Amino acid sequence: MINYRRLEENFQRLSVIGRQDGGGITRLAFGEADWEARDVVIGFMKNAGLNIRVDAFGNIIGRREGLYPEKSVVMLGSHIDSVPNGGNFDGVVGVLGAIEALQCLEDQQEQNDHPIEVVVFMAEESSRFGVATLGSKAFCGKLTPPNLDQYKDIDGITLAEAIQQRELAPENIAQAQYKGEIKAFLELHIEQGKVLETTNHQIGIVTGIAAPTRFKAIITGQADHSGATPMNMRQDALTAAAEVILLVEQLAKKVSHMGVVGTTGVIKAEPGAMNVIPGRVELGIDIRAIQLASKQWVVNELITGIDQIKTQRGVEIELITLTDEIPVEISKEMVGELQDVCKQHPYPNMLMPSGAGHDAMHLASLAHTGIIFIPCQGGISHNPAEWASMDDIVAGTEILLAAIRKIAKLDFSWKQTKL
Ligand SMILES: [Zn+2]
Repeated sequence: MINYRRLEENFQRLSVIGRQDGGGITRLAFGEADWEARDVVIGFMKNAGLNIRVDAFGNIIGRREGLYPEKSVVMLGSHIDSVPNGGNFDGVVGVLGAIEALQCLEDQQEQNDHPIEVVVFMAEESSRFGVATLGSKAFCGKLTPPNLDQYKDIDGITLAEAIQQRELAPENIAQAQYKGEIKAFLELHIEQGKVLETTNHQIGIVTGIAAPTRFKAIITGQADHSGATPMNMRQDALTAAAEVILLVEQLAKKVSHMGVVGTTGVIKAEPGAMNVIPGRVELGIDIRAIQLASKQWVVNELITGIDQIKTQRGVEIELITLTDEIPVEISKEMVGELQDVCKQHPYPNMLMPSGAGHDAMHLASLAHTGIIFIPCQGGISHNPAEWASMDDIVAGTEILLAAIRKIAKLDFSWKQTKL
């Protein structure tokens, strides 16, 4: 049903827009390449018989009318902007997959009861304005005129100016908020990690979107002469830091089955000389989970454990919270439906958390929302080497198509699912 060749050609068509010398893609939000790609995608949407409209933030909405136009909308979407020197799959898979699915319905002259819409969200990547998922935020009414003046790119151009250059009026931003009722939202996306590839799964059904809690830990000991200070007279900030690092790992491992990950990615030791016992260390700690409770457990245990390390090692440890975000829970009903759909297809699938944020996370508060992952080679993303196989893209698109066929029926209703 999915036209492999057509889908492949559409990817090729987009892959030359914003292409860099080394093969990477640069389509920064509202920039020239982004706009060129947008025009091409609008062409694909028109070919698929979709009616196009553009909202006050420039998000493109392509609608396939339903037999009952007044009914709630089954919605698909993702983005086509990229990071500097990124790939042609992040976001693009969700957009071209969605358009291909609707093109199939058009080819078959198939009737859907509920209207179906594909949304291309603007400015998903934070690369230009420092804030991610701007288009889906505007779509969900979370972007205000002051925000548009506040966010600036590296050249000092505000988001308000950038959208003005695209003939959109910043003062009308509130109108970008979607007015209709949404029955379901689905986003197909590359995993941007290597779980699917490593475990030989073609489809990942996302159960939640992890949110980070980040700390800076400052460990203060005593910088002393490494030769003249006996082992029992030291307040070594770096060995204390080593215990903190291991504690973060141990705690995350204990609840890793709940989708928790813990990383210490930054370490700065002072004075940083081989003949001096480190007197001060700074750590950057990142803890992510898809459930608030399991993340909170790790944080609480970390605080208790740090108190013990302080006492045992005679050092001071200050824990400063940098961010503390709430994970997005994904509709269990949607996960159940996607599992059912996958049963009708030969592709090996698994449930998994999403470590990265996506446009879908904003829609999750409005409608039953699902994210379908496909593998990307080596888990590499935001890089010229980002690559997903056409076979996997087609598999993901088939799942997307089967899901909307089912959900867009009048007699479809959500059933309670236990995960
Ligand atoms: Zn993306």
